[in-house]
Amino acid sequence: MLITHANLITWESPNRILEDQAVLIENGLIKELGGMADMAARHPAEERLDARGQYVMPGNICAHTHFYGAFARGMAIPGPAAANFPEILEKLWWPLDKSLSNEDVFYSALVCLVDAIRHGTTTLIDHHASPFAIPGSLDEIAAAVDMAGVRAALCYEVTDRDGPEKALAGIKENVRFIERVKRDKPAGGRLAAHFGLHASLSLSEETLAACRQAAPEGTGFHIHVAEDISDEYDSLAKCGQRVVDRLARHQLLNANSIVAHAVHVDGREMALLAESGCRVTHQPRSNMNNAVGVAQVESMLRLGIPVCLGNDGFSNAMWEEWKAAYLVHKLWNRDPRRMGGYDVTRLAVDNNAALASSVFGSPVGVLAAGAQADLIFVDYHPYTPLTAGNLPWHILFGFHESMVTATIVSGKVLMYDRELKTLDEEAIARKARQLSVQTWERYNRRMEQNLS
Ligand SMILES: [Zn+2]
Repeated sequence: MLITHANLITWESPNRILEDQAVLIENGLIKELGGMADMAARHPAEERLDARGQYVMPGNICAHTHFYGAFARGMAIPGPAAANFPEILEKLWWPLDKSLSNEDVFYSALVCLVDAIRHGTTTLIDHHASPFAIPGSLDEIAAAVDMAGVRAALCYEVTDRDGPEKALAGIKENVRFIERVKRDKPAGGRLAAHFGLHASLSLSEETLAACRQAAPEGTGFHIHVAEDISDEYDSLAKCGQRVVDRLARHQLLNANSIVAHAVHVDGREMALLAESGCRVTHQPRSNMNNAVGVAQVESMLRLGIPVCLGNDGFSNAMWEEWKAAYLVHKLWNRDPRRMGGYDVTRLAVDNNAALASSVFGSPVGVLAAGAQADLIFVDYHPYTPLTAGNLPWHILFGFHESMVTATIVSGKVLMYDRELKTLDEEAIARKARQLSVQTWERYNRRMEQNLS
């Protein structure tokens, strides 16, 4: 396939913006880029996809999300409003995830994937929980990912909050799915797996050891770390160590591991994160919503920690997350010089692309020969000069996800002219509306019976 009449944003380092280009895609990979006239002359027989002068750039990557949270949209939480992060878990997320059936898990993922394709997010790293539908839950999500055609890495969050049987079921689900992905390479290599853990605050010493024991060699662990200060004090009370020290002692932090949030880590914990080579993900919209604080992202970058950008289940409109990251550090520090456009780009582009490339074992997130053909078309018409140097500020102040008109993953067109090609958006929304009514009923019953 030949993408024609494209203005390219390559996200190479250094980044390049190239006008009136064509991109040749073969077997899901970018084969060649070049000037429009020359490429058209040399590849006359290729099927063509006209970009009509739009920007063509690598699809966005989300380093930490929760498909299972989709049915929370518009849901009323009974009783007094949650006053802190532990109460948000107890009043919202834990009774909600316990109300999910296998079918809910599938449709919850599908509605998120519609949103991702529409908004140009082509790679997503998910963290899943459904305590009353654990075995096979990752297969449900994998089926949705396969149907949608996006790229995703999945895991199940192991926790002790529901007793040893469910903790063991979570461990088994991770191991089973990791082995399945290794064996079958489902979705043509667009699926990957991590070993999921909820957070230190809901995990015992025994369960952490059991996870390390059960995980195949080289597995990356995906876990929430010090999202709220309560995680640190819980860990100190349990074992006399802070969260990162505790996880490091259990050998859960390696170059393939993903640590979400790290809002309350101290200097020593940052040094340990840097030594381990693991990745930290930043989710500023979620952090603001939960009022947990703001991670010291710039300090972590200075220490060489690859900080990535996720959305923690907020909309898969990743430029919204860029904007939140750009703004919140300025207000938090009362200093407009903090978290500049290049810092945001390091997270959202460079570090997210390196993460996705490592997870999927192939170059992702760059428009260059040999990379995965995960591309979006953006209908943006700048009224000031747009250069490789000032692009971050055009994205922060000018780009909007409604400008995404086409989404391509592994060379397959998932949306063109804003029309979805793989998913029936209306049918999915209709079915999800039916299912979510029942999910909300189960949630309300749990809340009435005080079963969090
Ligand atoms: Zn999360």
